[in-house]
Amino acid sequence: MNPAWTEETDPLEVIGWALETYPDLILPSAFNLNGTVLIDLAYKAGYRGEVVFVDTGYHFPETLQTRDRLAERYPDLQFVTLTAGLEPEPWGQERYRTDPDACCAARKVAPLRAYLERKKPRALLNARSRDQASTRAHLGFVEPGERVRINPLAYWTRERLEAYAKAHELPVNPLYWAGFLSIGCWPCTRAVRPGEPARAGRWAGRGKTECGLWVGKEAL
Ligand code: SF4
Repeated sequence: MNPAWTEETDPLEVIGWALETYPDLILPSAFNLNGTVLIDLAYKAGYRGEVVFVDTGYHFPETLQTRDRLAERYPDLQFVTLTAGLEPEPWGQERYRTDPDACCAARKVAPLRAYLERKKPRALLNARSRDQASTRAHLGFVEPGERVRINPLAYWTRERLEAYAKAHELPVNPLYWAGFLSIGCWPCTRAVRPGEPARAGRWAGRGKTECGLWVGKEAL
């Protein structure tokens, strides 16, 4: 990490540094607005590795279509879909109603964790940004750890991301423009109301704000 970096540092510079420092890095994505912009920037910076998506079995059709449109647009990237979380579950279906933490742990975190433990990348490119939620307000470009997380979009606002996506005609998930500013599984996502933070529509009313991939004791 360059100590001269500031909030204004171009994400391309951050990604360029990441590619040089961690050539084995992997880009997990859920194909939200942030993820779509990050894929485009990573491609422009020279990334030609994997874009890894966890299919929980509960994604909106629009999300799967967005994945397919991105795969068509960037044929040099390797789009990988993990479906390990779709194995029969001893506790039955619709766990998202009774225990969403356990559902996310089984359907999201476990498949990606198993994949990363097999591939052993030293770093991940991550699309989170500060203005998505108060839980992300202190995000920096680099989060150290056993597996370093690099967040090139940490300081980009939603308006800036939208402007970039429009200027480059990126295939943004159409649900985004219908108010789904953060898109997860359909049972746990609603459109955001005016004035709400971007992630207010995720697990609304259930006291849960993160799936556990990036925050919490099971975080990757
Ligand atoms: S977001 Fe909802 S449906 Fe998806 S894995 Fe988590 S609890 Fe289950």
